[in-house]
Amino acid sequence: MTRLAALTQAQLETEVARARTQTQFGRLPDYVPLLAKANPEWVAVWVQPLHGSICAAGDVHQPFVLMSVVKPLLLLFLLEQLGQRTVFARVGMEPSDQSFHSLSQLQVDRGFPRNPMLNSGAIALADLLPGRDGTSRCEMLRRWLNQISGSQLVLDEPVLASVRSLPNETNRAIANLLAESGHLDSIETALDTYNQICCLSGTVEDLAKLGVVLAGGIRGSRGVGEEVLPQTQNSNQNSKLKTQNSPPTSQNLRVVNALMLTCGLYEFSGRFAVRVGLPTKSGVSGALLSVVPGQGAIACYSPAINATGNSVAGLYLLEQLAQTLNLSIFV
Ligand code: GLN
Repeated sequence: MTRLAALTQAQLETEVARARTQTQFGRLPDYVPLLAKANPEWVAVWVQPLHGSICAAGDVHQPFVLMSVVKPLLLLFLLEQLGQRTVFARVGMEPSDQSFHSLSQLQVDRGFPRNPMLNSGAIALADLLPGRDGTSRCEMLRRWLNQISGSQLVLDEPVLASVRSLPNETNRAIANLLAESGHLDSIETALDTYNQICCLSGTVEDLAKLGVVLAGGIRGSRGVGEEVLPQTQNSNQNSKLKTQNSPPTSQNLRVVNALMLTCGLYEFSGRFAVRVGLPTKSGVSGALLSVVPGQGAIACYSPAINATGNSVAGLYLLEQLAQTLNLSIFV
């Protein structure tokens, strides 16, 4: 039995009850009006071992948008479709001690985005997605993610409308600088694609299923990852993509996990790697996904976030679980 699979339902429920007391130390983001309407006391966690029984506790039926948790998934899709050379011609692989929407980091780096977990990197990668507009690009990514993982992500249209209701000047300035430096083809399409993919929505169960893919759980096996894409108006374009439905390669999974570990929680990544030691990605919605390579995934949702943009109760839960179960990849 793996260390993750040793978790009991009773243990998880105790941890969620403790984590709920931490929510008071976070606050809801205010730059997307609908995100500010979440209940700050929500806490949900879904632990999915590759082999063994699932444990889940808290507000597990509450859907949420992925926001920046989509970034490693976008990276994986592009690595699978376009290869490492093309992807890393557009984005770097170095950590940053600046915030997720830092324009000054991009200026220091002369318009070349430092890593794919920052807004700059993800906006540059959104520009690389195949498809004529944000809607078709987001739909292609959504279908692929659902097919390889068995998740049921949907586009949350009300949150997308809410994102669009307030212009995000920082992301626009980032896109402008990327374009000026020759690292972005279409500012409008890249920003719209980025906004849409951030609004892909699911529950902690969906997020854990995606985490299982990142943990290597369906790599090379016959499973949902090998289903054939349904015919759509994009099918011509889909057929040009070489690995549309195959499970991700180990090589690409290693890249994504390494970047989640070093960059996934922005300026908190180093400290978290020491304290928890798991590749993890956060989103300002309060979503958090931790990968336990070879063992499974832990998906958390709790919308009250700290100044870094990471879920307070989610970080607390991950730290408790990692320490109790000895989950760090480094021992
Ligand atoms: N869409 C959000 C933004 O650009 C995502 C950021 C995040 O989740 N950290 O601000």
